[in-house]
This record gives sequence, structure tokens and C-alpha cells, in this order.
Amino acid sequence: MQHGTTTDPLILVGAGLASALIAQRLAGGSNNPPPILMLEAGAEPFGDHTWSFHAADLTPADLTWLSPLVAHRWSGQSVRFQAFSRHLRSGYASLSTASVAQAIAELPNLQLRTAAEVIELRPDGVTLASGERLPARCVIDARGFNPSPHLALGYQKFVGQEVETTHPHGIEHPLIMDASVDQHDGYRFVYLLPFSPTRILIEDTRYSDGENLDRAELARDISAYAQAQGWTISTVLREEHGVLPIALAYDAEKFWAERPRDIPQAGMRAALFHPTTGYSLPDAVRLANLIADAWPLGSAALAQRIRTHALKRAREQKFYRLLNRMLFRAARPSQRHLVLQRFYRLGEPLIERFYAGQTTRADMARILMGKPPVPIHRAIPCLREAPFLSQEPL
Ligand SMILES: Cc1cc2nc3c(=O)[nH]c(=O)nc-3n(C[C@H](O)[C@H](O)[C@H](O)COP(=O)(O)OP(=O)(O)OC[C@H]3O[C@@H](n4cnc5c(N)ncnc54)[C@H](O)[C@@H]3O)c2cc1C
Repeated sequence: MQHGTTTDPLILVGAGLASALIAQRLAGGSNNPPPILMLEAGAEPFGDHTWSFHAADLTPADLTWLSPLVAHRWSGQSVRFQAFSRHLRSGYASLSTASVAQAIAELPNLQLRTAAEVIELRPDGVTLASGERLPARCVIDARGFNPSPHLALGYQKFVGQEVETTHPHGIEHPLIMDASVDQHDGYRFVYLLPFSPTRILIEDTRYSDGENLDRAELARDISAYAQAQGWTISTVLREEHGVLPIALAYDAEKFWAERPRDIPQAGMRAALFHPTTGYSLPDAVRLANLIADAWPLGSAALAQRIRTHALKRAREQKFYRLLNRMLFRAARPSQRHLVLQRFYRLGEPLIERFYAGQTTRADMARILMGKPPVPIHRAIPCLREAPFLSQEPL
């Protein structure tokens, strides 16, 4: 067999968000970016997604190198609960499948192959389902989320429809959570991204215990929501859906003990996501920086660096998993919205740090202070993480 040499490409397995960010960051990081081969099993790269983030999630330098992939930017955002509405000045931005595909197509050092399912990954190459073997200088596994017994989950499930309305919808900024809607199937809210005066993404979301997603039911709830706002939908332009993992408990040591030591993992594959939102973009940006700063590196050395980084992130994210257990296990499903309503009364910098995954100890104290919005006898069994990972009933 052929062994990877320094002239062989970096192979990115999976044309998803993590691979796109690694490719973009490596392309911008030097005058002589490495040759990259991106392999996607599906017919089209980059799924059918809108990937959003809060401007405060990223550093100014990150925002600069990411900018070719950004499709929309807004200067503020808001939330709505039964008890109050609030406008926040934090900026917000979204990438789309089209904007990512276009930016990646413009990278001169990158070759993208679709319908190229990888069935074997080795440190020095991959094998495709067709039997073709491709050598690589380094192979990164970015094939998306892979469930593990060492990661106990709740779910954020949603269906989003990008629609054209007959008249201006009147929404200027993203409405990150409209939780004034009827609560069912856990914590329910509607998420709105206005792309033009008459084009808007309407996403019906639930934080629920089970991973089943009834797309038809959520689509009906989107229509009912639009009608209640007084909007008439002339066209549904596209639909996206997701079932994102919300981490309740995580034994990162055991998770990583079962992963290959010589194949670097990236994105959701490496469980690098915000435990409370299931969003992976900020962590994928940080990982792209780590890879570019360490480049050039072979598979085994890079795998070790990523493992160390991911274990550190897992320790840093302990607090979010505790909050998730309170939300999913201590709060009754119909009361979950009260936890978020309380959170959104806190200061804007604290909210920004929360989404960025950079909550400080003082923030933690502030979040937990006062009368908890969950029954104390249900909160106490949620304090420890380990029982949620064992096979024993709680
Ligand atoms: C609809 C939707 C909206 C989301 N919105 C946001 C958001 O707004 N902000 C945010 O931060 N996060 C968001 N997320 C969560 C998360 O960021 C995304 O799931 C993100 O795409 C994960 O990136 P990834 O690269 O790890 O995996 P993916 O983007 O899922 O990419 C994995 C790719 O690998 C391919 N693949 C799998 N197996 C093979 C194989 N054997 N050979 C070759 N290719 C293979 C898959 O087809 C896929 O294209 C969203 C998720 C979904 C589903």
C-alpha cells in the first residue's frame, strides 16, 4: 500500500461545517496552504443548513477569516417570553449551505469529491466504498455526530422553513427565542431569522427528552405561528430540520478511550459542541485555529493535540451539563420555559459569555443565585453527573 508523504493532501472526511472551517482557516493562514481533498458521501456537500452564531462567540480575528462564509449579519437580536420581551444589542450572523459551498469552491488548494463514501480511515490514507485507496499526509475524521454510551443526552429538535410572505413581516432582528407560544413536548420556542422584508426563516424548536421528530406536526405549528403573526406565506422556499444533542452527562475520558489514537476527530464527531444549545460553530472555529496553528502535522500527532484540547473543553463545560440536568430532569417539561425566562433576565455580557461557552465562576454563581425555578427535591439528584451515565436506574 501507499504511505502518505508530505506532498500528499490533507484529507478531510465529510463535507460539513467542521471540514469547511478547517479548510478556510488553513487557506488563509499561510501563503502556501496545503493541498486539501474533501470527501463527501452524499450527492451534495454541506447538507441543507443555516448555521448561526452570536458575534460575541468569536474573536475579531476569527470573524475576519470566517467572513467569506457568512451569508447574513444582524446588529441585534431579541427574545420573547410569556412574562416579558427583551432586545439585546449582541450581533448575530448566519452561514448558509450556499455561502459555505461558494467560499469553499473558491479555495484554489482544495478539491472536493461528492458521492465519495469513506469506509476506512487510516493515519496515512482512506479507502472509498468503490475500493479506491487514497493516500494522505494527514486524515481528519469530520463525519458528524456519533452517539456514545458515555454521553447522556436530551435533544433540541426543530423544523425550519424559509418562507416568502406576501407582505413585509416586520421582523428586523433575529428573534432567538419566542417562548410566548404554547408549551408542549418540553421547552418550545419559535426562532426567526429575517433575511429580507418578505423572506424569513421560521423554526419551531423543542427541548425534549426523546429524539423522535414529527416533521409534519412541526410544519403545521409553523403555519399556525405565521398565521397568528398575521403573515400570509406565499412560498415555502426550503425546509431544514435537526435533532441536536444536548449533553446531560459526559465521561470524556471513556469517550476518548474508545476513539482511535492516530486519527484526528473534528466537529460533532469529537463531541465538540455547546452542551446547552447543541451548536458546534464556535468550537469548530477554535478547533480550526488549533489545527492551523499546529500545521503541518501528521495524523497521530494531531489526534493527540485534539484529544487533549477536547478533554479540557469537556472539563470546562461541566457547569452547562449541570444546568441541562436541571432543565431536563429537575424541571417538569411544562415548566422548562421558566428556567430560560429567568436566565434571560440576567445581564447581557453574562448571556454572551454563556453562548460563547466562556461562563465565568462569578457568572455561575449569578445564574444559580436565588430561588431555583425547579423543585429542590428534584434538583438534588441532578447534582452529580456520574449516575446519569451508569446503567442503574436513578
Ligand atoms: C439543520 C441544522 C441546523 C443547525 N444550526 C446550527 C447553528 O445555527 N449553529 C451551530 O453552531 N450549529 C448548528 N447546528 C449544529 C451543528 O453545528 C451542525 O450539525 C454541524 O453541521 C456539525 O458539523 P460537522 O462538520 O461536525 O458535521 P456535519 O456538518 O453533519 O458534516 C458531516 C458530513 O460528513 C458526511 N459523512 C458522513 N459519513 C461519511 C463517510 N463515511 N464518508 C464521507 N462523508 C461522510 C456527512 O454526509 C456530512 O456531510 C445545526 C444542525 C442542523 C442539523
